[in-house]
Amino acid sequence: MGRTSKDKRDVYYRLAKENGWRARSAFKLLQLDEEFQLFQGVTRAVDLCAAPGSWSQVLSQKIGGQGSGHVVAVDLQAMAPLPGVLQIQGDITQLSTAKEIIQHFEGCPADLVVCDGAPDVTGLHDVDEYMQAQLLLAALNIATHVLKPGGCFVAKIFRGRDVTLIYSQLRVFFSTVLCAKPKSSRNSSIEAFAVCKGYDPPEGFLPDLTKPLLDHSYDFNQLDGPTRIIVPFVTCGDLSAYDSDRSYPLDLEDGSEYKYTPPTQPPISPPYQEACTLKKKGRLAKEMRPQDCPISTVDTLPQ
Ligand code: SAM
Repeated sequence: MGRTSKDKRDVYYRLAKENGWRARSAFKLLQLDEEFQLFQGVTRAVDLCAAPGSWSQVLSQKIGGQGSGHVVAVDLQAMAPLPGVLQIQGDITQLSTAKEIIQHFEGCPADLVVCDGAPDVTGLHDVDEYMQAQLLLAALNIATHVLKPGGCFVAKIFRGRDVTLIYSQLRVFFSTVLCAKPKSSRNSSIEAFAVCKGYDPPEGFLPDLTKPLLDHSYDFNQLDGPTRIIVPFVTCGDLSAYDSDRSYPLDLEDGSEYKYTPPTQPPISPPYQEACTLKKKGRLAKEMRPQDCPISTVDTLPQ
């Protein structure tokens, strides 16, 4: 693929580079904020699963955290530094990471916790949805320790078979739960965002990091009556916003002439780096065609 074809195929990818965002995901958070005024009155925020950092960029610009460290960003991957953003490298499903995050908010809770976490997708939908749910629940668990009453939680969610259980769990902690799909999120993707406002844990609730919130004994399909929560689904980004499923000509409708822009901040240590280096040296293992396989292997191939 030529370096400009991705700009044509994905207008938000192109606009992200031109506007100095590290990733196209920045537009998702911006469009969610347009619809739900997420940043109103917010001075302290946590960005879970933050790399390469476009949501942290948006947060630090929108909530005036520049220079004063009001945004804490966490990811498994190393992330290039951002002004006003305190970074923690770690796994949000691990107790040690959760504890490290919480200690930054002791005595001064956060107004907003966001999580754009995505597992490495396997293509096995049930597995992917389960992993995604685990990330969301790990994020919710952290949120129950750091959010102030009335605070807001926004997390990526896969609208799969068992999403009702997650909505029900979120409704235990928040007075309003909505499912939102920003225009910059492709229609073809089951990704959406749970927007939860008004943090209000049940009376007597004691946050406990050692207990996962997803109870494996649940029969997901048996949720009924008041436990079956149907949450409103909202699309956001007005009709004039670009459609993320369309290809656009390189010269955009506003008359601006196309000029290639390199990525704002390439990943500093991506997991695929070793594979790229091996490929450049021609040392990456190539897929074998059956006719190239040793006889013994061919014999064992399924017919
Ligand atoms: N919001 C980010 C931005 O705007 O730049 C993009 C986030 S990217 C879609 C998903 C991130 O989730 C990846 O950087 C990945 O490393 C992170 N992630 C996945 N599982 C995680 C975990 N268990 N703990 C911490 N981060 C995780």
